[in-house]
Amino acid sequence: MTLMQEYRIFADYHTHTYYSHGKGSPRDNVLSAIERGLDLIAVSEHGPGHFTFGVRGKKLEKLNREMEELRREFEGRIAVQRGLELNVTGFGKTDCPENRDDYDVIILGYHKSVPPFNKHALRIWGESLFGIKNDPHRNAEAILAAAESCRANIISHPNLYLKVDIPYMAECCRQMGILLEVNSARVTLSEEEIRAICAAGCRLVIGSDAHTPERVGDFSLASEAVTKADAWEFVSNAVRI
Ligand SMILES: [Zn+2]
Ligand SMILES: [Zn+2]
Repeated sequence: MTLMQEYRIFADYHTHTYYSHGKGSPRDNVLSAIERGLDLIAVSEHGPGHFTFGVRGKKLEKLNREMEELRREFEGRIAVQRGLELNVTGFGKTDCPENRDDYDVIILGYHKSVPPFNKHALRIWGESLFGIKNDPHRNAEAILAAAESCRANIISHPNLYLKVDIPYMAECCRQMGILLEVNSARVTLSEEEIRAICAAGCRLVIGSDAHTPERVGDFSLASEAVTKADAWEFVSNAVRI
């Protein structure tokens, strides 16, 4: 038995639907999660600040109502959670809605399609779009300050579009109780970086980042990376079987 087979991932906190640029409905994601044998599924759509895919206004309200109905419908079969994948919109800034506490899980990620409204956002936008290098330590500080302001539970795909100082981010996330994601749509952390996160005592979370119902609960890429780094005991959404 490989190490990977000794662990079961029981929750997928990171999934998208047709409310943004995904393919299926929230219900399709829930059904797929049940099929995969998960105990918990969250729909965590792109936050309102995402220029192209952000879910906002009436659309976000409709999604929230739908999630509440699904939670009731599937009670006892699977836990259905309401999530959001917020955007870093500047140094220490996010597109967090006022009703942040209505969400069960807040993910924060850096995405390119966020208009640069301030100097820092412009700088990091330049890096992610044109490869103009910034300071990975400063980038980590910008995201951590943003994570603190929105009380994020998870930082998604660290290093994607924007290089961050992972050991520093891991140390801060340990203190703040924030999970660092090993993203299973594309692994953004090297083996050394995953080992460094564990050495800092920071916890990991595996997310599918599914944009189709078929990919909900697909953890294969992230599982491979976690196995290589011998990091399973640090994965918060996995249990030993
Ligand atoms: Zn993302
Ligand atoms: Zn995502």
